[in-house]
Amino acid sequence: MARFCAQPLGTGPLYPTAALLVAHVEQLHDAPRALHCSTMATVAATRVDEMVSGNVLSIKNIEVIYDHVILVLKGVSLEVPEGSIVALLGANGAGKTTTIKSVSNILGTERGEVTKGSIEYMGERVENLSPSDLVERGVVQVMEGRHCFEHLTVEDNLLTGAYIRKESRRVIADELEKVYAYFPRLKLRRKSQAGYTSGGEQQMIAVGRALMAKPKLILLDEPSMGLAPQLVEEIFEIVKQLNETENVTFLLAEQNTSIALRYASYGYILENGRVVMDGIASALAENEDVKEFYLGISEGSKKSFRDVKSYRRRKRWLA
Ligand code: ATP
Repeated sequence: MARFCAQPLGTGPLYPTAALLVAHVEQLHDAPRALHCSTMATVAATRVDEMVSGNVLSIKNIEVIYDHVILVLKGVSLEVPEGSIVALLGANGAGKTTTIKSVSNILGTERGEVTKGSIEYMGERVENLSPSDLVERGVVQVMEGRHCFEHLTVEDNLLTGAYIRKESRRVIADELEKVYAYFPRLKLRRKSQAGYTSGGEQQMIAVGRALMAKPKLILLDEPSMGLAPQLVEEIFEIVKQLNETENVTFLLAEQNTSIALRYASYGYILENGRVVMDGIASALAENEDVKEFYLGISEGSKKSFRDVKSYRRRKRWLA
């Protein structure tokens, strides 16, 4: 059984078993694959049909409960327009990951469920779709913690992302080259075991693997986590390029408000399972409360305990 970089890659139907993925990679290496033209045509037609203008994702008033009792999301609504980068901001435990997992429908693996509200992807209700169906439709989550198969090479990790795709080996190979064009560093390390790559490279593997699934919407959870500022900038630059060049839409959960607001067009701030503020990213970055509470910029110098009390008061006002 596969071992993973930091934690297990994931469980449940979104993730085929490690053995299956490894078999798939081996198949790509060794066996010629038939070109499933009819399947490709069907998939392409479905994608074209789905290309409606407006929002790729629309979450309406969802509630999420873990273990039947722990109410975590208390009526979250948000919209992600096609071709945009939308930031989902908030401190630890605000509910960002839970929101993202609600969309990719993997809450069940943690005894969580959406108990109220609706989630629409390309204008269609998707709460009842399986995670793998969602991946096939182009919704791909890059989990917090940049999970990868540590015993596989960088290249084989990327190839596992193409698991759901029915195209020929040649098409997949072209796609791989495209990923390498975005992440030249991965090409240099393609034969290295993923477990021995750096944190930044593992984050690149995680995003590159998502790209191999030909996503329309990437749910990117905390890409900056544990990375040096320069690498964080590099990752966000690639996100921007993918958004502009490949027309991939991003819902980006981030604690690093500063960088997220620089790259996103719109932002939502979550606190304690509720959206407490949303707006155009540049306006949020200039908002005095956002500056004070999330960007660490305040008029005057260090805060005293008195300021902490007023911070709490103002936070209530925010909500
Ligand atoms: P972080 O940035 O630290 O990941 P977050 O904003 O992504 O935080 P979530 O991970 O969504 O927040 O967690 C929101 C709340 O839900 C937290 O209070 C957390 O303890 C709780 N929670 C998350 N997962 C579970 C679970 N499987 N069972 C019970 N409670 C959970």
